[in-house]
Amino acid sequence: TGGITTVSSGNLTVCTHLTYKPFEFNQDGQTVGFDIDIVNLAAKEMGLTVQVVDIDFEQITTGAVFTANRCDIAAAGMTITEPRKQAILFSDPYFDATQALLTKTGSGITGLDSLRGKRLGVQTGTTGQEYATKNAEANGYEMVVFDDLPLGVNAVKAGRVDAAINDNGVLYDFAKDNPDTEVVAEFDTGEQYGIGAKKDDANATAIIGKLNEALATARQDGTYDEIYKKWFGT
Ligand code: GLN
Repeated sequence: TGGITTVSSGNLTVCTHLTYKPFEFNQDGQTVGFDIDIVNLAAKEMGLTVQVVDIDFEQITTGAVFTANRCDIAAAGMTITEPRKQAILFSDPYFDATQALLTKTGSGITGLDSLRGKRLGVQTGTTGQEYATKNAEANGYEMVVFDDLPLGVNAVKAGRVDAAINDNGVLYDFAKDNPDTEVVAEFDTGEQYGIGAKKDDANATAIIGKLNEALATARQDGTYDEIYKKWFGT
């Protein structure tokens, strides 16, 4: 494998935070999704088998999973941000995202300014939580913090919160499967996802190098578009 050693020999261990459909979720006893297909491109190149480790999102963004050698890389629909770049090494961007707002269908809510005195679900440790926090005072909503995506979107469905903020890709996916909910706004936060690894580590740097190469090839030869179509249907 070109001098690359991994946390678990023969495997490329990948930390993620389940469930974040369609990027990573369980189906028929296996973790699948857009992110899994992307890391598989690199794993194949290196002759390694992807092994998924499910862990708290903040363990990933702080780099704790790498200092503890829990995994070789992390793929978690994770936005590349300046603070996170201080803690972890990022691959080239592989997906564009923006924050969005999910409500019950026909709620009349059109944006954060419709939420005065109402409850907004946010996911802990995410850029969505950060955006909601920044805009809370001006819009006068109460934030309810959830540990993962399904808890937040199902709270919208059940009427326990009036809206939930999260990345556009996952919210459109949920709304497609749950027509009693809809995406009513996007906030143009201009985010890009990156795969993470240990910072200042020659081995991790080599793995990310392989991943960047595999990504560039996949963008050129149509594989990226195929993966995109598979999970987003367009
Ligand atoms: N892209 C968002 C972030 O990085 C959400 C990621 C996630 O919840 N898995 O904060």
